[in-house]
This record gives sequence, C-alpha cells and structure tokens, in this order.
Amino acid sequence: MTTALAPLAAVEPFFVDGEWISPGQRRLIEVRDPASGEVISQVAQASADDVAAAVAAAGRAYADRRWSGLAPQDRGRVLYRLADLIEAQLEELAILETRDNGKPIERSRADTASAARTFRHFAGAPARLTGTVVPIDGGGHHVYTSLEPVGVAALILPWNFPIMTGCFKLAPALAAGVPVVVKPAEQTPLTMLRVAALAIEAGVPPGVVNVLTGDGEVGAELVGHPGVAKVSFTGSTEVGRLVMAGAAPGTKRLTLELGGKSPNIVFADADLDAAVVTAMRASFGHSGQMCTAGSRLLVQRSILDEMQQRLVEATRRVPVGNGLDGGVTVGPLVSEEQRRQVLAYIEAGVAEGATVSVGGGVPERPGYFVEPTLFTGVRNDMRIAREEIFGPVTGVIPFEDEAEAVAIANDTSYGLAAGVWTRDLSRAHRLAAALRVGTVWVNTYNIFDPALPFGGVGDSGLGRDLGDDALYSYCERKGVVVAL
Ligand code: NAD
Repeated sequence: MTTALAPLAAVEPFFVDGEWISPGQRRLIEVRDPASGEVISQVAQASADDVAAAVAAAGRAYADRRWSGLAPQDRGRVLYRLADLIEAQLEELAILETRDNGKPIERSRADTASAARTFRHFAGAPARLTGTVVPIDGGGHHVYTSLEPVGVAALILPWNFPIMTGCFKLAPALAAGVPVVVKPAEQTPLTMLRVAALAIEAGVPPGVVNVLTGDGEVGAELVGHPGVAKVSFTGSTEVGRLVMAGAAPGTKRLTLELGGKSPNIVFADADLDAAVVTAMRASFGHSGQMCTAGSRLLVQRSILDEMQQRLVEATRRVPVGNGLDGGVTVGPLVSEEQRRQVLAYIEAGVAEGATVSVGGGVPERPGYFVEPTLFTGVRNDMRIAREEIFGPVTGVIPFEDEAEAVAIANDTSYGLAAGVWTRDLSRAHRLAAALRVGTVWVNTYNIFDPALPFGGVGDSGLGRDLGDDALYSYCERKGVVVAL
C-alpha cells in the first residue's frame, strides 16, 4: 500500500539524512503558481552548514556502502518499487508540477510518467555494471576492470522540467550506487521533495537521497564542496560555465545539459501536414520553455509561401490558457522576469528587421502569458536566431538547398538537437550525419527514451543524461593487475 502524498504545507521542509528539516530562521523563498501569481508555498534558502550536512550525510552513505553494498537485484527491486510509487501518485504529482511550474497538465502527466519509466529502465542496470578481463601479456598477470560508484553526486536542476530532469539524473545515479544531494530550481522545488519521500518509502536508505532547497548560492556551494565528487547540472549555458569553473579546483566529474537553439528543417518533399503540426509542438509546447525548442524553423524556399501561410494559420490556433484546464499548448511562463526577457527578445527581432506574422503581445489575462509568436523574414545572424529565448517565439528562416540548410543549421554555438522533414531517405541520413548536434529527429520531434542518451555538443553541454552513457558517468572504472 502506498501513502498519499503529503498535502502542500505553507512552508515546505527540505530533506537531509532521512529527516525533514524545518526552515526555522532561514530566509524563505516564495513558490508561486505562474497561472495566477498566487503564493502556494514557501521553501527555505539552505545555508552553507546545510550543504555541509547534506554532503556529509551522503558521504557517510557512500563510505559505509549502505546502498551500493546491496546485491544488484535488491537495488533494482527498490528502483522498480520507486517507479511503481511514482506511477501510483502520478495524478497528484502532475497537478503539483503544474501548480509549481505552470505547464499544461498533459505535459506534467507525461513528464511524471517519463520519470517513472526512467526508474524502471535503470532498475535493471545494477546487474549490468560488469567489468572485463584484459589479456595484457602471455599469462603472467591476471588483469581485470571493475565499475565503482563515483562518490557523492550533486544534482542541480532547472525549473522547466523539474521532476523529469531530476529523475533523468537520480535514476542512473541510484542504479550506480551513488548517494546524491539534489538541488531543484528555486522556482520549482516541490515535486523532487515528494520524490525524495517516495524514495524512502520504496526502500532507499536514509542519507542516500538528500534534497536541499534554495537558489544558485546553494548550487554554487554544493559545486565547490570538497565532499562532492561529481556534479550533474541542467540549466543555462551561462551558469553551466560557472559550474565548470567551480568544479575545476576539485577536478570533479561533470555532466552539463545546457541551452539550445535547435533547427527544425523542412524540405519541399516533406509531409507538410505532419511538419506543421509538429512544428507547433516543437516551437510552442511548454510555452517554448524547452532546451530542445525548435525555434529556428528552416523552410526550403520553393515552399516558403505555402508553409508560411500554413504556419500562420496553425499559430493562430495554438490554444493558450491555464495549464490545469487541459487541451492547452501555451500556458503561462514560469515568472514575470521570464516574461520580461521574452518580450525584450520580440522587440529585438522587430528592431533587427524581422516581421511578427502572429502574436508578439501579451494576452489580457492574469498570469505570466505571452502570445504564441511567429516571426518571418528571419536571418540566422539576428539575435532571435542566435540566442535561446525560452518563450513561445519561433522564427522562419528560408534556405535554398541541402548544403545551405546544413550550413545555417550548424551556424550556431549550440548543438543540442535538430529536426529534419523529408521523404528522401538518403537525404535524411546525410543530414543526420552532417548536423552537429546531440540528437536528430527525422520526421518527428522531441522523442525521448530512458535507453537513449540525451545531451548536446558545443555550448549545449558535456556528457549525456539517460542511456548507458549516463549510468557510466556515475561510475569510475578501476583496473586491477595481479601478478600470477
Ligand atoms: P539556470 O542556469 O538559471 O539555473 C539552473 C539551476 O542552477 C538552478 O537550480 C539554479 O538555482 C542553479 N544555479 C544558479 N546559479 C548557480 C551557480 N552559480 N552555481 C550552481 N548552481 C547555480 O537555468 P534555468 O533558468 O533554471 O533553466 C533554463 C535553462 O536550462 C535553459 O537554458 C534550458 O535550455 C536549460 N535546460 C537544458 C536541458 C538539457 O537537457 N540540455 C534541459 C532543460 C533545461
């Protein structure tokens, strides 16, 4: 039997060494519902002492092997149970995620289901952490390798996919036997606190999963703490660089999942109906607050007029509203600050000569909304084509032929993902090879799976979440040489 999720408290405690810690005299951070601006709870700004306590608790769990020392199947059993518990609470977790973040409820359900699937995928992984025997000479030595947990990991999360990015990191870390300190984004701390409670209920020993609330100062303190061996960070490229610098003195292992400016490339021979429907989701899903947002819509010139007409009509029909109402694509942005930034980008696009074909303004309703906005006449050197906007804003960039499409697509410092729309199989594979990105989607977009490594090249990051790459990133390989 599972217990129901605890109701939302006026002030949510954080979680260290199996104990819920009340904020006491610590500074409080308001947690707002972005659809109304209403304060729904508060969390504490964890102190440097709290960071030290959480890292020490995880360090004790690492040293006494209370988790990594379990038989692989027993560790797997706990992770299966955690997947079941998340699924059993799926609706409650999804509602909490939408209240915290504003995203449409269907998106929150899908994110929570994906979190559960990720634990189920990695539940089978402990038994796969095998070594090898290495034949180095004619039999004078017995040489083998083994995989060992990396040490304490700090998992620092963004606000756009709180439960999903949290579990993308937590599941492989736990599978590898690694104790963690999780630091959710200050805007969206609620669901990972619930996941920590469910981890304990599933049988993860106290001290193995710790969750600290607070802003970037807490993140920076964690990154610099000598007791942390590995940092897995998802967030902006700017902060990712700070994390890299903060981790350098301790020679820490790093996974960085950063920003993107992904091209979604439509050739004249594509299924245009499917391309348009998917372009709407890729551009405006979660109000464009996705690292993989297909915000550079490259369209072959021979179909430019027809596509622009279709895109204008489709953008006008994108449903805007409170994420809890259902059937909504564009909910509110996460905060007033985020809305200000998005509107500034729209102004910059106009100033640089692009045309707002749809949207560009703010709908008349409470909450932090921006209208779904379609720019046409965009050049790849404009700021709206080079910088991550993180709002419901997309721009159409024309291209002549395959070579120009690849040149424009790769002319970016980012390299997270790309979409390719064509019925020409050979071209699809040529593009897949030529695009300098971590993921290419052909005739689809935004498909993720726990088995498929996800991450970027260039300014989009370092290393991968998900798949075996993620699993091994929480391990150190050791070589053992025995003279016979
Ligand atoms: P952000 O970089 O502002 O914050 C991310 C996290 O880092 C937060 O928890 C924040 O408190 C913490 N932080 C801030 N300063 C820090 C510091 N100096 N040291 C350590 N931690 C610090 O990012 P955000 O605005 O929350 O998220 C949006 C960004 O995340 C976008 O750029 C988006 O593209 C990116 N993102 C990437 C992926 C991916 O997988 N590639 C997925 C989701 C989001």
